[in-house]
Amino acid sequence: MQFEHTTLGQRVLFGTGLAAEHVAAETARLGATNIMCIASEFEREFAQIALAQVQVALWHTDVVQHVPIANAVGARQAATDAHIDLIVCVGGGSTTGLAKAVALTTGIPIIAVPTTYAGSEATNVWGLTEEATKTTGADDKVLPATVIYDAALTLGLPVGLSVASGLNALAHCVDSLWAPRADPINAALAAEGVRALAQGLPLIHSDPTDITGRETALYGAYLSAVAFASAGSGLHHKICHVLGGTFNMPHAETHATVLPYVLAFNAPSAPEAASRLSAAIRAGLGASAPALDGLDAAAEAVALLNELRTRLDAPRALADYGFTTADIPEAVSRILKAAPASNPTAVTESNIAELLGAALAGTTPA
Ligand code: NAD
Repeated sequence: MQFEHTTLGQRVLFGTGLAAEHVAAETARLGATNIMCIASEFEREFAQIALAQVQVALWHTDVVQHVPIANAVGARQAATDAHIDLIVCVGGGSTTGLAKAVALTTGIPIIAVPTTYAGSEATNVWGLTEEATKTTGADDKVLPATVIYDAALTLGLPVGLSVASGLNALAHCVDSLWAPRADPINAALAAEGVRALAQGLPLIHSDPTDITGRETALYGAYLSAVAFASAGSGLHHKICHVLGGTFNMPHAETHATVLPYVLAFNAPSAPEAASRLSAAIRAGLGASAPALDGLDAAAEAVALLNELRTRLDAPRALADYGFTTADIPEAVSRILKAAPASNPTAVTESNIAELLGAALAGTTPA
């Protein structure tokens, strides 16, 4: 066995109902005195809970999905003008993304309090969108110094969004099995992430106030992000990156829709990854997992993901989010330029067009 692995340095504090206490303790530990809170207008309710025990110098609510450059410039200016020495971001991946955009040019440290399962809080990846093109990069300056998980802040995340966001996290795990820097450490993290998500999401689906489901999904989301940060973007992320950045598709729903098609595309060429994935989904579903006798590793992994998605009423078709047949050629051309050489199945213009066509229509992946 031979591999190279980097573990990113960050503190994680996990505890339901403890966000305010944890934010206060971490603020003191970091010696910060001038705090900027980034949270969208909607997320401000959660931010007020999380920052209840500290003084906030600047509330910034101008958050837009995929971080348009103008929003990043505005937030950076506001932070600089107010001599901010710590950002506390409270919200989904869009909010974390704006905090990272500020940290990228100012070096101001971040405490992240995530309220979805997007996982941006555990990666050193930033993203900015300019003229319909989303650019991403990796820089340790944007890695939050501390992540504070409080499942109580996620209780109001609607079931549909919880499922889409949770499947976004599951996609981090699946893609990290064949991404450019895939290795046995992030594969182990990804497998435990899949198990936790496959256990937690059905609990949330049947009762969104189930705190065990919320905690399990949040734990799985963290593992998924650590695996993704280490392994890098595989084909699935490159596809979703194009769909989000160029066609302004909603992030979590796009990931949730595209994932089974990428799995069906890659699994026959990656039987070990497929077996690992099947075992993890089975472990998460527990006694209710279907038997599925006689399938090979690839077909079993696809069938189990389909089963999980059916139980969750997961997003099904890109057409539901505004993607059209006319968009396919432009998307294919961009995806072919970005597809990683590590992908187990060789990509071609026709097989990517076929994948997108199936995801557009929502036909059952097999
Ligand atoms: P989002 O942050 O846009 O949130 C979606 C919606 O959920 C928003 O309207 C938000 O206000 C609402 N919301 C958030 N928390 C809530 C809660 N607890 N209860 C009710 N509503 C809540 O979407 P997202 O999927 O979390 O993040 C998507 C963004 O994150 C994209 O821009 C994506 O590129 C980025 N991202 C980046 C990385 C990375 O490593 N850099 C990883 C994953 C995602």
